[in-house]
Amino acid sequence: MHVKSNDQVVVISGKDKGKKGKITAAFPKTGRVIVEGVNVATKHQKARNAMQPGGIIKKELPIDASNVMLVCSKCGKATRVAHKVTTVTNDAGKQTRKMIRVCKKCNAEID
Ligand SMILES: [Zn+2]
Repeated sequence: MHVKSNDQVVVISGKDKGKKGKITAAFPKTGRVIVEGVNVATKHQKARNAMQPGGIIKKELPIDASNVMLVCSKCGKATRVAHKVTTVTNDAGKQTRKMIRVCKKCNAEID
């Protein structure tokens, strides 16, 4: 996926179009993400016991990752993501190849 947990994203389609938020959970297997404050479902819950009082519960439901765009932490714009392979040296002094994400707008490395 082009986004992962803790990414800042903007919703580009659906009823929450235009909303910005942070990804609180990502599900790569299903290609879905949960974004803070987006796709909130309201559930009317009956009290089950003293530990779980009844009331209106707001819960964020997953949305398709293709409906969000990454917001670049460097330039602050919603952007598409490019992937770049880079060589990093690990703690043991060994060189490994790593895939990093790059902002298409300002070319900043995102992670
Ligand atoms: Zn950028």
